[in-house]
Amino acid sequence: MDTKRAARYPFLRESSEFAEKNSADLEQLMTSDLYAPARNRGRERVLQALEGSEVSAVELTNDYDRLIEVMSYPYARMIVSQVGDRFLTKRYALSEAVRMNKLLVKEDNSTLLIVSEELGVSSTADRDGLIHMKFPDYLMLASRLNSVEWKLINSDIHHGIVYLPQEKFSRLMQNALQDKIESELPLMTPDEFKNCMTGDVTCVNLALMDAKMKMSPTNGEGMKIDYLPPCLVRILEMSRNGMNLPHSARFAIVTFLKALGLGYDDIIKVFSESPDFDESKSQYQIKHIMGDLNGSEGYSPPECKTMKTNGLCYNPDTLCEQEWMTHPLKYYRAKSRNSKRGDRPGPKGPEETH
Ligand code: SF4
Repeated sequence: MDTKRAARYPFLRESSEFAEKNSADLEQLMTSDLYAPARNRGRERVLQALEGSEVSAVELTNDYDRLIEVMSYPYARMIVSQVGDRFLTKRYALSEAVRMNKLLVKEDNSTLLIVSEELGVSSTADRDGLIHMKFPDYLMLASRLNSVEWKLINSDIHHGIVYLPQEKFSRLMQNALQDKIESELPLMTPDEFKNCMTGDVTCVNLALMDAKMKMSPTNGEGMKIDYLPPCLVRILEMSRNGMNLPHSARFAIVTFLKALGLGYDDIIKVFSESPDFDESKSQYQIKHIMGDLNGSEGYSPPECKTMKTNGLCYNPDTLCEQEWMTHPLKYYRAKSRNSKRGDRPGPKGPEETH
């Protein structure tokens, strides 16, 4: 048994066998002082995911530390399950997967193939250091990667097999692990253990609130009209003046306001200012766009490119002309930031994703 590998990749069967061999079970993990370091590390895994989108990889030299590392993984997953927040689950899955990718690029072929097998991707390696995987697996894992190097035309494919250098293969395994963790969570936590986790669950809940607040375009301060991009100012004006809004404009304003953190009651107030306001019709449309009718998360606000295609990019100003301006939410953030710095609203702004 390779205990170093078990600690590095705690989702492996080898890791479970390592824990079993040391009689480390769930009850021990939850209640024994011996496993307090594993519980601390488990909480740390989740907090690191929230703070930096990456779980740290620690190099461990003895079997006790490795066992603690292995046991911290199920504990982290149980915390995430207890919190039960979709954003946290996705962020945690990504962070574990990023950690694995960084380790995997330096591994020998044997570990690489063991890990990929565990992730449901059968692969082989050749003497030239290339990893071979089946085309359908490649397609499933690479299709969400947008950069040009992942386009099919740039892939080395022969007879249904894709040939990849280790670095690219490891990147695909990152996606595979992310999918695996997301599909496995939430875990059922036996009632008797929930109390043992209360402190850690509360700690993560607080960090989650903080992270969401920091990521919110409004920093939790509510919407400021002055920061709205000209396109949405115009759509609001049209609504107030009773002009017939095309569906794409209603869609843009509802999704934008929702992304700023406004709830249904605040959004319907915006539409109620229109002289021909029809509550039942607006209610259905807004709830549908917000995802309230089918329990989904709703839609994301359209980016500038889509707004332009739909003829909704009204009155773009100098900030809109910046090369990095690709999304109305970026406009809002940039204005908000400029205002806090005491700058005149102008072309300064960050390059960031919405
Ligand atoms: S460039 Fe973007 S933010 Fe500016 S008005 Fe057009 S759609 Fe709105």
